[in-house]
Amino acid sequence: MSQVNQNVQLLRYTPAPEETVSMAARLCYSSSTIDEIAQGVQKKDQAKYLERLIEMGHLSCIEHASFTFGIEGVSRSLLAQLTRHRLASFSVQSQRYVGKVSHDGETFDYIIPPSIQALGDAAVKRFQDQMSQMQEWYNQWVDALGGEGEHSFEDARFVLPNAAGTRIIMTMNARELHHFFSMRCCNRAQWEIRAMAWTMLEQVNRAAPHLFVGVGPGCLRGSCPEGKKSCGQAEAIRMRYQEMLKRIEADNHA
Ligand SMILES: Cc1cc2nc3c(=O)[nH]c(=O)nc-3n(C[C@H](O)[C@H](O)[C@H](O)COP(=O)(O)OP(=O)(O)OC[C@H]3O[C@@H](n4cnc5c(N)ncnc54)[C@H](O)[C@@H]3O)c2cc1C
Repeated sequence: MSQVNQNVQLLRYTPAPEETVSMAARLCYSSSTIDEIAQGVQKKDQAKYLERLIEMGHLSCIEHASFTFGIEGVSRSLLAQLTRHRLASFSVQSQRYVGKVSHDGETFDYIIPPSIQALGDAAVKRFQDQMSQMQEWYNQWVDALGGEGEHSFEDARFVLPNAAGTRIIMTMNARELHHFFSMRCCNRAQWEIRAMAWTMLEQVNRAAPHLFVGVGPGCLRGSCPEGKKSCGQAEAIRMRYQEMLKRIEADNHA
């Protein structure tokens, strides 16, 4: 069987992201040359300055810091939601060029939702059997469409489910990440993208904490913006956020 689990990694980011944003912001309010600004920034602690900048809402400056994530063990269902975020760059493993014909019981990678796992072994087995059935249908269509290669894979894939796994490399700048976290770390977001968003939130807080102070679901900053649709768990979410910060701090001092 080919059940896979979510794996999200911060692969790369703008070197010295906090200094880079600081330089951009200071340039706006200073008569100094670029060299003077670059030298001045390197000497100063950026924390307070950046926090004030973000509080003021001068967010175009934080667009100068970008973060690139490697994401795998996620479903095509997650992919559909993720790519709705237009201010991001995506590279996605192709189902046209990367096909999987298998006659030995192995299947394409897939994700089993926790709600189905919670129903117990019989439910998981039923789900796995259904994936195997789809692999069989897929194999049949690959054969019927020529046997292999992109011309077979591109149409055989129409019988694959939303559960099918994918791999993505995605880049977002810090401003888009602020927006992404406010929508996708919220309990109203679907479980799979929410899990991914919280992992990403922790990773960027480790890399550039002062660009992400107080960033996360809306309830971190005040009352829940979801109104009547609120999950009513703001307190638990704030605790989760605080625990994340404590974990990072403990690791920084380890
Ligand atoms: C809980 C939840 C449920 C959802 N349910 C549905 C659903 O049922 N159906 C559905 O179709 N989608 C649904 N979505 C997706 C949602 O509608 C958005 O498409 C997605 O979250 C991307 O957000 P965005 O458009 O704000 O942000 P992004 O594309 O990330 O853009 C960021 C911001 O840039 C600005 N921006 C970007 N592009 C433009 C533009 N062309 N013009 C003006 N401003 C722009 C906006 O201010 C935008 O908020 C859901 C999302 C969530 C979190």
